Amino acid sequence: MTGPAAWQREYDTALRNPEAFWEAQASHLPWLAPPKHILSNDANGTPRWFKGGVTNTSWLAVDRHCDDGRGRDTALVYDSPVTGIVESLTFDELKARVSRTAGMLQGLGVGQGDRVVIYMPMIPEAIISMLACARLGAIHSVVFGGFAAPELAARIDDATPKVLLAASCGIEFDTVIPYTPMIEEALAIARCPPERCVVKQRDACPARLSQPRDLDWDETMAASPLADFTPVDATDPLYILYTSGTTGRPKGVLRDTGGHAVALNYSMAAVYEAHPGDVFWAASDVGWVVGHSYIAYAPLIRGCTSILYEGKPVRTPDAGAFWRVIEDHRVKTFFAAPTAFRAVRKEDPDASLLERYDISSLAHLFVAGERLDPSTFHWLSKHLPVPVIDHWWQTESGWPICANPAGLGLVQPKPGSVSLPVPGFDLRVVDDDGGECEAGVTGNIVIKPPLPPGNLYSVWGDHSRYLDAYWSRFDGLYLTGDGGFRDEDGYVYIMGRTDDVMNVAGHRLSSGEMEEVIASHPAVAECAVVGRRDETRGQVPLAVMVLKDGINIDGETLAAEVIAKVRASIGAFAYLREVKIVPRLPKTRSGKVLRHLLRQIADGDAWDLPATIEDAGVVDELLAVL
Ligand code: AMP
Repeated sequence: MTGPAAWQREYDTALRNPEAFWEAQASHLPWLAPPKHILSNDANGTPRWFKGGVTNTSWLAVDRHCDDGRGRDTALVYDSPVTGIVESLTFDELKARVSRTAGMLQGLGVGQGDRVVIYMPMIPEAIISMLACARLGAIHSVVFGGFAAPELAARIDDATPKVLLAASCGIEFDTVIPYTPMIEEALAIARCPPERCVVKQRDACPARLSQPRDLDWDETMAASPLADFTPVDATDPLYILYTSGTTGRPKGVLRDTGGHAVALNYSMAAVYEAHPGDVFWAASDVGWVVGHSYIAYAPLIRGCTSILYEGKPVRTPDAGAFWRVIEDHRVKTFFAAPTAFRAVRKEDPDASLLERYDISSLAHLFVAGERLDPSTFHWLSKHLPVPVIDHWWQTESGWPICANPAGLGLVQPKPGSVSLPVPGFDLRVVDDDGGECEAGVTGNIVIKPPLPPGNLYSVWGDHSRYLDAYWSRFDGLYLTGDGGFRDEDGYVYIMGRTDDVMNVAGHRLSSGEMEEVIASHPAVAECAVVGRRDETRGQVPLAVMVLKDGINIDGETLAAEVIAKVRASIGAFAYLREVKIVPRLPKTRSGKVLRHLLRQIADGDAWDLPATIEDAGVVDELLAVL
């Protein structure tokens, strides 16, 4: 049985008896000792998975494949168009490097429960460092390499690491970004700087290691022994990953060991249909949750080959980069954010570069991270000979909450929908009073506990923040922070963060919905809509648009066409009057549009410049137009 019936059966089974369902999933992985309790409460009263189970994530991701005779299979391929390096590591080679890195950390006094901050670009040492921490039962916290010094310092002060593992530089397109000045500054500001900082020197920009605290990676490694894995409890923490909360202070999402491994392994089978030996490529950054889950951990735990790509969708060297990597490494499953494809489409609207490559290895394309607008969905579906699957998740969940489950048999996709909840997630849509919404009615998307394995179970060092941020708005229901609805068939539509909903004269309007209509105009490359303050209507929508390259249309004509389109598609009550053309949208480095910032600028309010902003120069461009 596959398709809707298989999904329904699995979904019902997982909700009817979560313990039996997840016990069965846990049995697909080896354990050093099996769990004593499938689901039990911890001292905080939080439901936890697989207490008493003894395991180690580094052992699961590396050693056990070597023990199973797969040591000579490829575990990791590092493909770096910015340096010209392509390097493959077998599971045996990965084990050797992870074990030695763990030995190095041990030599620096790192043991179980200690924190290690990793501040690295997309190089193999980033993944190896994560696995080395896991090997010792130490807790890693990867800070995205693009974060500036104050953000790095804030994370260091929150995580209080013993050691910082870093690289001497990152490379963006053809620009070398030295990390040392940022590290120096961060460690100078930090109240709790680590005792040691180990730097992987890169040829593009070796660092001058001047402080007694600093160590050269290669030299220290050469003098380090191999370290074996430390058995840990399934409920022991594996990592902290900081994500933005509603306050400016980053939230340390805390992930466990056993539940995480079981959930990721299940997702590889049920969602991605990825099996041992398959080649899996998530074109993200190790500093984000997609990188943690689907570059580092899930593919390796599953015994797949994972691709680590140090490049961009375009200009490394061109908009055919994705297709080149798929051909070169025979990628079966590809995962990227919609924004990446909008960049490709902007440079190569007819996907003509695709003709140069053989992408016949590809079975599925998955996208997540932001709404997949139907226009990009149709472009991808037209040009790629594989299903295009929008799926929805967040840092907190660690794996998909909604997807078209390729491993259970695809269901009929609906453009604009992230399809169906993944088995294990009891998803509900509720209005602001907590009452369940009818089909088609937009509300708050919440999850009824227990959250399945792999989801966060606390905020590092601040359990009350975990309770406040996720469990207090609707008593006993997990708040995803996203708004959306389910249709008559149960398909889920994510319309954006709940703060992206506008209220125009008492009508609730979604930015995402209006953006979808505007983006379908042939001249528009991408757009964002926010609610601008209005005396009469509370808010009125403001649309800002980036035009496709080579489009020659006068602004007034375009605005009139876009306004007419929105009026025709949504209704006059949407009240779109203001449409502006901008050179680019304000975005985070991971490609999310910063609507909140846009709204603040549009309203003439004081704005907070998010640390994750791709380029602060965009603010002046917006001020000139809005
Ligand atoms: P992050 O924790 O940074 O990965 O961001 C998670 C947020 O990104 C979610 O709460 C959503 O608002 C958004 N998001 C992720 N995937 C999708 C998707 N497929 N469709 C719409 N929004 C998405």
